[in-house]
Amino acid sequence: MVDPMTAHPLAICRRTLVSAVCCCCLLLVPAAKSAESPHVLVLFSNNRLLPANVEGDRGLQETLPAEAELSTEFLDAPRFMGASYDRILTTFLRAKYGSRPPAAVVAAGPNALFYLLRNRGGLFPSVPIVHMGVPDSNLSSDVQLPPDVLGVPISIDFSGTIELALRLRPDARRLVLVTGASPQDRQFETQLRADVSKLTGLVDAEFLAGLPAAVVLKRLAGLGDDAVVVTPGWFLDGEGHEVTPRRSVELMADAATAPIFGTFDTFMGSGVVGGAMVDFRAVGRVAGQAVARLLGGSPPTALGLPRGMPTTLQIDWLQVLRWQMDPDAIPAGAEVRFRPPSFLSEHRNEAIAAALVFLLQSALIAGLLAERHRRRLVELAVQRQRAELAHASRLAVVGELAGAIAHEINQPLGAILSNAEAADLLLQSGANRPDELRTILADIRRNDLRAGEVIRRLRALIAKQAVERQPFDLNEALADVELILRSEARRRLATLVFGPIPASARLIGDRVQIQQVLVNLALNAMDAVADLPDDRRTIQVSVAREPGGVVLSVSDRGPGIAPEHVPRLFDSFFSTKRWGMGLGLSIARTIVESHGGRIWAENAPGGGAAFHVALPVLLAGNQETPASP
Ligand code: ADP
Repeated sequence: MVDPMTAHPLAICRRTLVSAVCCCCLLLVPAAKSAESPHVLVLFSNNRLLPANVEGDRGLQETLPAEAELSTEFLDAPRFMGASYDRILTTFLRAKYGSRPPAAVVAAGPNALFYLLRNRGGLFPSVPIVHMGVPDSNLSSDVQLPPDVLGVPISIDFSGTIELALRLRPDARRLVLVTGASPQDRQFETQLRADVSKLTGLVDAEFLAGLPAAVVLKRLAGLGDDAVVVTPGWFLDGEGHEVTPRRSVELMADAATAPIFGTFDTFMGSGVVGGAMVDFRAVGRVAGQAVARLLGGSPPTALGLPRGMPTTLQIDWLQVLRWQMDPDAIPAGAEVRFRPPSFLSEHRNEAIAAALVFLLQSALIAGLLAERHRRRLVELAVQRQRAELAHASRLAVVGELAGAIAHEINQPLGAILSNAEAADLLLQSGANRPDELRTILADIRRNDLRAGEVIRRLRALIAKQAVERQPFDLNEALADVELILRSEARRRLATLVFGPIPASARLIGDRVQIQQVLVNLALNAMDAVADLPDDRRTIQVSVAREPGGVVLSVSDRGPGIAPEHVPRLFDSFFSTKRWGMGLGLSIARTIVESHGGRIWAENAPGGGAAFHVALPVLLAGNQETPASP
């Protein structure tokens, strides 16, 4: 859209052609889209293939009303310019569009705008003009536009582009600025020089302005690591060769040994690293919107257009890699183009699915761990409650045995008293019988130890201690049980028989709890024989070896167990006794099973009940043989 103001030798041929075409055109009858369709004429400054024109046209068509009838003309600047070209063109356009004048004209680029301003009177005097792609430097304060000529100027952001270049190339010490030879190129040069003069920093600016293309390319090929190039491209080189600015940048990028930055988004993909760029498609869109509003009836003065088009920071990722620039230096908000999609963006759905599966799996694992932890807490609580119940039950048993135990302690205490009195009498008699005194004292000591032993075992049974899992000797544990029960059996006129008991076995577990089981079973047996004649009040406690363990049995000669009671014996609160609580056997089962054992009851063939407790053995006798589980 931007164009120089100079004519070109080829213009002569063109003029002849245009004159011929004009004559024919006078005879033309324009084929209208429809009588009602608004007609919009778009006049481009340069040729059809200028990338800025292509992009601007695309943006324009995106926003123009669909029903608008569009006509397009190209001034082909800078190749065709000058006063006579203006005249021929005006004649041509008036002839072509005389019978179908446009409702609005779009002037794409400064050449088209200034041509229209110069020739408006001879063309379409009262038709509003919307300009697009005209640099603000072309619209300085001395250019006064009529109220019905409006548009949003673009700004060529050299300062922003230089800033970006130095940011991505912080080691650069030379700033090379390339411009062309056409009037528009010269105008860019003027602005660029003004912008560069404001630069304060360590870089040296070097202009390659209006030189032949070959010279420019040679100079660019000789640049070193410390240089960076900024350019708006050129329309015309110093030898009068015309190219599009995009093409000029492609040539520069091929030759240069330093990175190049540019000011138009049409340069992207040509080899430039990037820049603060004019977005020509957006420019076209804004112009199209303005035209649409004019066609809709809005007066030109009421459009309230912005003062300028903003530029956008654009970066070519491939060039960042090529020049080994720091990606972190790319400003936030810059549009990075040509970056290959990351694995995540390419396989987004798969990644989301995998992440979801992972999250679900993690949640499941966390849930299972929490559940396991909760179960462990519950198990610990149950264990604690069991131990407390067992302890409470032991206290109840001790309460039951209180009378017998008092008797058991009283006996040695009575013996101690008698012995003390005998010693006293011996001393009072004045007889010198030290041997007798020694015997008495030994007796006192023995009885004291006996009373102390009863208290020790009783204390072990009463003590509320944590459940212990330790190896213990079965026969020692049985001896304690015998001592605790002996008086009670005597009180109840029952006979307690311990045997047969083989060589000791070592069990692992809580000795007190196993003793508690045996005491319970023995007391139940005593209850069972309570009403029998004396000769049948016998309770037998025996031990049998079996592979990997022992079986303790407590049997009596009582009435046995009624068949209907057998399945409920070990249930909590099952009791057939008047004051029974029905907890003894259920606690016994809990204790035995927590030791990896088994408890069961049966009626003996000769009458009476037998309760058996099977427990695994850790060590048998002195031989260390592992217990079966
Ligand atoms: P409790 O002794 O308070 O009744 P237990 O759980 O110790 O509670 O016993 C439950 C029941 O098992 C007893 O009430 C009794 O009916 C039966 N039982 C236990 N031991 C014997 C036994 N040696 N002979 C017959 N029945 C028994």
